[in-house]
Amino acid sequence: MTFYKPRIIISACLDMQQVRYNGSFVKDDFVLKLKNYCEFIPICPEISINLGVPRDRLILYKSNNEIRLFQTLTNKDLTDGMLRFSDNFLKNLNDFDGFLLKAKSPSCAIGNALVYKDKEAKVFHAKGRGIFGSEIIRNFPNYPIEDEGRLRDVNIKQNFLIKVFALANLRNSKSTMNNINKLMEFHRENKYLLMAFNQQKLKSMGTLIAKFKKDDNFEKIKEIYFNLFVSSLASYVNKGKYLNVLQHIYGYFSDKLNKNEKKYFISLTDKYINNIVDLRTLIEILKIWSLRFENKYILNQTFLNPYPDELG
Ligand code: SF4
Repeated sequence: MTFYKPRIIISACLDMQQVRYNGSFVKDDFVLKLKNYCEFIPICPEISINLGVPRDRLILYKSNNEIRLFQTLTNKDLTDGMLRFSDNFLKNLNDFDGFLLKAKSPSCAIGNALVYKDKEAKVFHAKGRGIFGSEIIRNFPNYPIEDEGRLRDVNIKQNFLIKVFALANLRNSKSTMNNINKLMEFHRENKYLLMAFNQQKLKSMGTLIAKFKKDDNFEKIKEIYFNLFVSSLASYVNKGKYLNVLQHIYGYFSDKLNKNEKKYFISLTDKYINNIVDLRTLIEILKIWSLRFENKYILNQTFLNPYPDELG
C-alpha cells in the first residue's frame, strides 16, 4: 500500500526547534514518529512577530469580551500583531492536509490555553484558544486540527490520522484525475471511509458523479467533489459510526462464513465497543476475508488501509 505523505503545518517547537520562550523545544514521541510519515511545515508565530528567543512569557486575558495576547513584563499588547501575522500566513497557505499545534500555548493552542481576567495573570478566567490557533480554526473549519496532548487519546489520534492521510491522497490525485472515470474510481475506493464520516455527503458526492454528462465541465464537477470530500471529513467518527461501516463490509462475507466465524466476529464487535479490542483487529479480520474471498472492491477500500500501521 502506498501512502502519500500528508503535509502538516506544525508548531515549530513540536518539531524540536528551540523556539519556546526559554529556548527549549517539546519532545513528543508520537510527533517524532509521525515525522517519518509526513512532511512537516514548521511555524512559530511568536518568532514570526519578531519576539526572539529568549523572550518574556505571553499570557491571554479577557478584556471587553475580547481575548488579548499580552506580555506582562514589557506591558505590550501583541494581539493585533499576531492577528496580522496569522491573516497573512493563512491566506497564503496552499497544499496542506492538516495542523498539529502546541497545546496550552497562548498563541498556538486550540482550546486549552489559560485565559486570565487580568493583564498580570493573577486571576484565572477560563480555558480558551491561542490567537494563532483560533485563527486557524476560523479559517479552516473543515481541516484536521489537533494538539499533541489530544493525540494521546486513541480515537482522536485515529480520526486525525485517517483525515490527514485521506486529504493527502485527495491532494495528490488532483493532477492525475483528469476524467470522470478516474473520479468514479477514487470515489469507489473511498466509499466506506466517507460513509464513516458523513453518509449525507457520501450520497451527494455519488449523485454528483452519477449525474455527470459528457458536455458538463469536468473541472467544475471535480472542484465541487473535492470540496465535498474535505467538508465530509470535518466531522468526528465515533465507535458507533466505525461499527456501522464494519458491519456493512462484514455483509459482503457473512453468507460465506461458518457459524463459528460469524459468532467470533460479532463477539469482537462487542469487545470493540467495550474497549477490549481496537479497530485495527476488526479491520485485519475483514482484510483476511477480502483476500480469502478475493473481493478486490473491499481490498481497495481506503477504510481498510487508512494510514501506515506503524502509526498505531
Ligand atoms: S507554542 Fe507556538 S508560539 Fe510557542 S514556541 Fe511553540 S510554535 Fe512558537
